[in-house]
Amino acid sequence: MSRRAYKVKYTKAQVNEKARKLATRKLPVRVPTPKQKALSKLHWLPVQNEEFTTPEDLREVEVPDEWTAEDGTRKEKVLVSADKEGLTVIVSDANLKEGSCERIVRNFAGLVYKEVTGEELREDEVDLSPFAMFRHTICEFCGEQTEGNSFTCPVCKRCFCYDHRSPESHGCNREKSRGETVEFGSKASRSDSGKERRTTVAIRKIFCG
Ligand SMILES: [Zn+2]
Ligand SMILES: [Zn+2]
Repeated sequence: MSRRAYKVKYTKAQVNEKARKLATRKLPVRVPTPKQKALSKLHWLPVQNEEFTTPEDLREVEVPDEWTAEDGTRKEKVLVSADKEGLTVIVSDANLKEGSCERIVRNFAGLVYKEVTGEELREDEVDLSPFAMFRHTICEFCGEQTEGNSFTCPVCKRCFCYDHRSPESHGCNREKSRGETVEFGSKASRSDSGKERRTTVAIRKIFCG
């Protein structure tokens, strides 16, 4: 299954600007993590004519489980970068079904739109286009190419390299103790027990793996 990068451009320039500010305010720029460095080395196949390279200021964002329920995955993360042209969203999970990438990105675009305008996103308010893709198999923890030596975690069902194949090594079931989570929106709620945790969207600061 291929992985994709999307450009999300709102038709109103001020919405793009607010989206950029939102991302910047919620998540300060940090030193690139090993995962980002690994991703930047990957060769992207452009869907459109323009060359695509991995943005340097990627933020890792955990999306609501409802968005990926039909794919059978949980705690799905996408990588987001924002500039005045809009958002770049990278979906790198190999286990998502065909068509799921775009749905996740569209939901994400709608959530950001609602956050900055207070309104629901209409179809004509956003230009969402697949921009580039790659077909390599990569570890979803560190971003390194697995070269046919990939492992599926029995717990989260995602794809990892030899070093990160065990649930412990990629933070499986220990999400709450890793990194620092900043939440989007006022609907987010958190309970300390970890049960019934209902978060609309959590933006997770990328930890160094
Ligand atoms: Zn790895
Ligand atoms: Zn796992």
